[in-house]
This record gives sequence, C-alpha cells and structure tokens, in this order.
Amino acid sequence: MQDEHNEDAQRDFHVTEVRVKLTDDPRNKLKAYCSVTIDQSFVVRDLKIIEGSRGPFVAMPSRKLSDHCSRCHHKNHLRASFCNHCGTRLDPDRAPRDGRGRARLHADLAHPINSATRIEVHKAVVRAYAEEVDAAQAAGESYRPKTFDDFDHLSEVVDDEYVEELERRQQGRERRRCEAAKTESSMNAAEASSQ
Ligand SMILES: [Zn+2]
Repeated sequence: MQDEHNEDAQRDFHVTEVRVKLTDDPRNKLKAYCSVTIDQSFVVRDLKIIEGSRGPFVAMPSRKLSDHCSRCHHKNHLRASFCNHCGTRLDPDRAPRDGRGRARLHADLAHPINSATRIEVHKAVVRAYAEEVDAAQAAGESYRPKTFDDFDHLSEVVDDEYVEELERRQQGRERRRCEAAKTESSMNAAEASSQ
C-alpha cells in the first residue's frame, strides 16, 4: 500500500524550472546556487552545486544546527566552543552523531524522500547547471552571472566540513542502496533455487 502511494507521488513530481547563479571564483567548491520550481507551483531556493571529490553534486537547502547553552539558554551553533552570550565553555562532543560516529552539524530544510524524486531533482539541476556553464564559456569575457534579488545576498563560501558531511551522507546512501540490492538479489536467488 505504502509503495503504491509512493509510486503515484513519484510519477506526479516534476521540476518545471531551474534558475542557476554561478559563483565567481573558480577555486570555490561552491559552483552555483539554484532555485527549483516544482510543478509550476512551488519554489525551493538555495540548492547548491558543490564540487565534491567525485564530481559535482546537488546539496539541498540546509541550516547549521544549534543548541542551547546549559547556563544561560542562549542558542549557539553546534561548532561553537564557548557560549556566544555568557562565555561558558561548551561540551565539544554535544553534536548528534551519524551511524559511523561523525558529528552532524547541518540539517536539510527541504529534501526528496524517495530515490525517483532525488533523481528528478538531480538531473534537472545538473542539466541547468551544465547549460549555464556552457553559456558562460560561450559568452567569455562578456558573461555576467545572473542577478536574482533573492540570490545576491548569499555567501559564496561553503566550509569544507559541510562538504565532507554531505559526501559522507551520499556515501551512506549509496552503501544502503547496495546492501538493499544485494539483499534483494540473494532473496531472488533463494526463491529461484527453491522452485
Ligand atoms: Zn550561555
């Protein structure tokens, strides 16, 4: 039942527009900001194209996780070593850990919940990014990055720690997919041999 419902959701979901703003500095790991429109009805901003160690990938809009100081209750980023308000030393190990014991410092604000949707978003965004890169190359000196009011205030820097966290997550997903495929094929083999 659950699967049937998911399949319907996957069929209905389309990215109908992608807007891309390339970043200026070619040494930057952050290659572009994007916004996507879903079914001509709903816009999600602040997706990012990041140059990872294994090629470019799409990062969902995210925010840094924070928690409250135990003494004054002020909100601090999980990375902070001292409370920004009262200066109390904060526990360096307070960040939640992933399955392999690595700290999770960021949370996605919007993200696909099945692989068909993930692929749809990834394909649409990477295609639009490649087109924008081509347009920039063709225009050469005369290329001007698009200006969108809503993009212009965004920082053009991503910290390496965030890129590593995203790559770990991606590797985790691939590992789980592999394991699921293996389980399925061994189940099929068992079924075949029992017939
Ligand atoms: Zn405090």
